[in-house]
Amino acid sequence: TPFLQIRHLEKTYPGKTRGSAGTHAVSNVSLDIAPGEFIGIVGESGSGKSTLAKLIMGLESPSGGQIFLNGQPLTMDAEQQRRRIESIQMIFQDSRSALNPRRKVRSLLTQSMEVHPNLHSAIEARARQLAADVGLAADMLDAYPPQMSGGQRQRVNIGRALCELPQLLVADEIVSGLDVSVQAQILNLLLALRKEHKISLLLISHDLAVVRYLCSRMLVMHRGQVVEQGPTEQVLAHP
Ligand code: ADP
Ligand code: ADP
Repeated sequence: TPFLQIRHLEKTYPGKTRGSAGTHAVSNVSLDIAPGEFIGIVGESGSGKSTLAKLIMGLESPSGGQIFLNGQPLTMDAEQQRRRIESIQMIFQDSRSALNPRRKVRSLLTQSMEVHPNLHSAIEARARQLAADVGLAADMLDAYPPQMSGGQRQRVNIGRALCELPQLLVADEIVSGLDVSVQAQILNLLLALRKEHKISLLLISHDLAVVRYLCSRMLVMHRGQVVEQGPTEQVLAHP
């Protein structure tokens, strides 16, 4: 059974000047995501992929339609945003995610736990566990982002997102810019996380090989609409 249900989602950005037509960035998108499911989203630049991700993350408010998380509607109010953050986390391309260069990996991994002041030993244990989960050596916990490779930083980005055990990761071009061999390591890490935590993934990628490797199902977006969707092999076999 799906834990995330998207129904007839719409987003129109207002026009630049008063009275000018807005941009219909997402148009009537419906989608179910089940635990452990990896879904790819492809489409040319400007087709609405990032906007769809922002709507799911609550970074933009929908103009229409609804999102349900575990059966309950997700709105933009503060309580629902907290519920959303517990369940859905986003990972960006390394160059866009801009890890704070003055924070050590240990604190970057567990930043979301820092609201609990008296949990130093728990936080340290979590940092070690997360480093192990994403394949970072323990001595990396004392490193700073500028000292690390792109692949290592992307492991930190993934580890940070996993800290509170979300149900869904939304990933926007997370391997572009990395060496192919490092890309393979990151993709295999995601597969291992699915096995271990039954985590789900919504993967925005321009790379069909990446989608094919990870995702059993894919959507093709064009001008804000889902123009094709189905099992990945079936969609890619389409003439
Ligand atoms: P991408 O296609 O990878 O999302 P873009 O360079 O198109 O990258 O967009 C970068 C950022 O600017 C995104 O956050 C996007 O939402 C925003 N953006 C894109 N188009 C516009 C626009 N016409 N007006 C304002 N912001 C925009
Ligand atoms: P993609 O991620 O597929 O490149 P986007 O979701 O970034 O597509 O953009 C979809 C459409 O919405 C594009 O026409 C883009 O210019 C527009 N757009 C994106 N973000 C904004 C924004 N913040 N303000 C106005 N228009 C935007």
